[in-house]
Amino acid sequence: MDQEKQRRLRALPAVHEVISRLEYEAEFSPFLANRRQLPRITRGVRQVLQKARENVNREFTDSFDEFESSLWTWLKNQLLQVLNHPETSLRRVINATGVVLHTNCGRALLAPEVARFVAEQAERYSNLELNIETGERGSRYVHVEALLCHLTGAEGAMVVNNNAAAVLLMMNTFAQGKDVIVSRGELVEVGGSFRIPEVLKAGGANLVEVGTTNKTWLRDYEAAIRPETALFLKVHTSNYRVEGFTHSVSGAELVELGEKRGLPVMEDLGSGSFFDGASLGFPLEPTIEQTVKVGLSLVTFSGDKLLGGPQAGIIVGKKMFIERLRANQMTRALRVDKLTLAALEGTLRLYENGELEDIPVWRMLSLPLDTLKLAASELVAALQSNQAIFVELKEDVSRVGGGAWPTVSLPTWVCAIRPKQGNVIELEKFLRLGPVAILTRIHKEWALVDVRTLLSGDVEDIVRRLEEWAR
Ligand SMILES: *Cc1c(COP(=O)(O)O)cnc(C)c1O
Repeated sequence: MDQEKQRRLRALPAVHEVISRLEYEAEFSPFLANRRQLPRITRGVRQVLQKARENVNREFTDSFDEFESSLWTWLKNQLLQVLNHPETSLRRVINATGVVLHTNCGRALLAPEVARFVAEQAERYSNLELNIETGERGSRYVHVEALLCHLTGAEGAMVVNNNAAAVLLMMNTFAQGKDVIVSRGELVEVGGSFRIPEVLKAGGANLVEVGTTNKTWLRDYEAAIRPETALFLKVHTSNYRVEGFTHSVSGAELVELGEKRGLPVMEDLGSGSFFDGASLGFPLEPTIEQTVKVGLSLVTFSGDKLLGGPQAGIIVGKKMFIERLRANQMTRALRVDKLTLAALEGTLRLYENGELEDIPVWRMLSLPLDTLKLAASELVAALQSNQAIFVELKEDVSRVGGGAWPTVSLPTWVCAIRPKQGNVIELEKFLRLGPVAILTRIHKEWALVDVRTLLSGDVEDIVRRLEEWAR
């Protein structure tokens, strides 16, 4: 088999060979007529040849002669498709998984009016670093600082690239070469690439673990204090829960100890929320405002988790600590761009105006069950005439996602689809590989479409794609 693969790989032409052969193919003359398109054609050829190599490396059933004789036609057709439908790499995806903060699908969606504000800022010059009053240079952070302080009750605020950067900057500024005391129960890994011990190390801090996985007491923190201790760090255990025989130390208790021993307390809140989810039936968790009130020196959280804004790391807290962060050279390397700031300002304004229902994350999380049932039944009805599938209305659960409220399952209604021919694995793939990728959730022999995370136009695209399955 390996020899056969080698033989087929050797039979594939080189990029320049394909391009010179295209000169003799009439259907390519419109593309070749414009010399400026040559880089695009070259990239297309590379892409198609890569696909051919991947095919060779998979299973094949045809003979070598069949492979060789059909190769040129195959390459040409593939290339024509690529050139006629130039696809961007970033594409729209229909998220029918019911995971609201889907990390693979870009986490939080911006409100349409916020997205328009971002587009406006992108196309025009702005006062990003200009004080319009004085005509002098201003700071890019002023555009969100006052809003953040107002919404969280903090004295100062700043924004960096993401929450991971916020923690890194905090460690580098206050704990380089010094000890940071963290509970063993809070040494979390988030999304595979963010691990508290490693971020501390990257920031030059020395991690001092205290307590055990399930129980950490105030006396554990106290016993670990040495002259080298820089601060206490609390970390929100976003994506897991230790249940049963547990104990952890609250921010308030740590602040009291910190004040006695002259040590600041900082917290990585993970998602954080301005809004108390308890009214929607979510587990009681302190809001960012309540966390700040306890007297922590600094609190960090993400912009694109429950906040529902752009990717960003937000740091709020005492003014003197914020000023020291700003003075760190690393801040320049972690700074946010104007589009992020525009998206954040727009989103924060919605909170300030109490327009929570305009923030897609909160709108989706708070959808009433009857609305979901109605939407799912409508989809079921629209698919009734499709002869190739069985459809059923079913109850199921959606997830918040993004490492927020991991134990929460939101009751929802789904349209469950089962193919009459073929299996659900094939159907899931067919939906994902359509003109617009449709992501569904597989449960037993059904592909589930959770209407909670659908947006306008999605239903029509789903119905259309399933009609193609019927053909
Ligand atoms: C999500 C999360 C992070 C990482 O935040 P990003 O904005 O994705 O960098 C860090 N800490 C905790 C506790 C988290 O939940």
